[in-house]
Amino acid sequence: MNHYTRLQIKGYEDVVRCDNSDVGFTAWISIHNSNRGPALGGCRVWNYDNKDEALIDVLRLSRGMTYKNALARLPIGGGKSVVHTDITTVNRAAMFAAIGDFVETFDGLYIIAEDVNSTLEDMEIVKEKTNHVATVGASGNPSPFTAYGVYCAIKACVKFKLQRDTLDGLTVAVQGVGETGGRLAELLYKDHCNIIATDINQENLQRLAGRVDFQRVPPAEIYTTGCDIFSPCALGGILNEQTIPALLCQIVAGSANNQLLTDKDGERLHRRGILYAPDYAVNAGGVINISCELGTQYNREKAKKRTSRIESTLLEIFRTAKQRSRPPHVIADCLAENLFSLRAAA
Ligand code: NAD
Repeated sequence: MNHYTRLQIKGYEDVVRCDNSDVGFTAWISIHNSNRGPALGGCRVWNYDNKDEALIDVLRLSRGMTYKNALARLPIGGGKSVVHTDITTVNRAAMFAAIGDFVETFDGLYIIAEDVNSTLEDMEIVKEKTNHVATVGASGNPSPFTAYGVYCAIKACVKFKLQRDTLDGLTVAVQGVGETGGRLAELLYKDHCNIIATDINQENLQRLAGRVDFQRVPPAEIYTTGCDIFSPCALGGILNEQTIPALLCQIVAGSANNQLLTDKDGERLHRRGILYAPDYAVNAGGVINISCELGTQYNREKAKKRTSRIESTLLEIFRTAKQRSRPPHVIADCLAENLFSLRAAA
């Protein structure tokens, strides 16, 4: 049985903890901001070291969704759910049914989707308890849209930084060729870019080799590889005081979340004259695609067109950043804050 505890957290609209000792999990749903519409964000399942760590994660992730959704001008707010459990032993079906009941208590103000360790099949179970589920409909796998959004972001960076309208002949170093990085490499290759790639998973490199000619480098060398564009598509925190001085690129734009270890690292890139495309502006394609099935008939072409607007959003950020002599990540935050501070109807 679910037991709910409402938490008061400054700066957050609603945060609720759900304890279920029968099934063996504790979960949180955090709605950071719903000014633009119901809060949409995936359900992350993880065996955290402790409950405080899980709470910090759901707060950080839900806040991030508010910024991402606002900057993409979506009529949705920012939320997230996190489930703290041992995924290897828990009764998965019972857990996701209980999570469905939890979501239903928000009466549509929170919309759940897949995330780390939660799948489409899990969402089918959630859907038996609540209608407030995204990604079980027509929009499908978000990764191709995320990859396409990164490709559009790279085009914006190249226009702004290199004053070029084509990617022809540019060299892109891709860190991580999984769901998003692999697809991105294909799009860039088709557009006549030279691809350098690394991954810790040889199978993913192998799969890419069947579709793209590329130069492999060991994971540690990706930061010191000469290229025009470095595209982090694996991990967060990889732009930091160790890696930034070593970078031999003019542009950083990739799918990975939370690329800057700290805000200071955005300043560091700026001082080095490297154009950094703020990650949550770049990787919004997946959520843009999902949003296209909320309350309306899904249309793939429309989703693709909306994703391509990432290019103009970034150009707006870069131009403002230049005018104000500020790093792009600071401008992206200001722009997003303006967008979610106003009610959608305003
Ligand atoms: P993925 O797991 O499919 O791919 C990541 C790849 O990075 C894997 O092949 C993995 O082996 C590789 N990798 C891990 N550590 C590495 C290292 N140290 N060096 C080199 N390669 C390494 O994940 P994904 O779905 O492509 O997501 C990548 C990033 O993009 C994540 O940060 C994710 O949160 C973010 N993101 C993804 C989506 C999406 O739609 N999939 C949307 C928004 C953000």
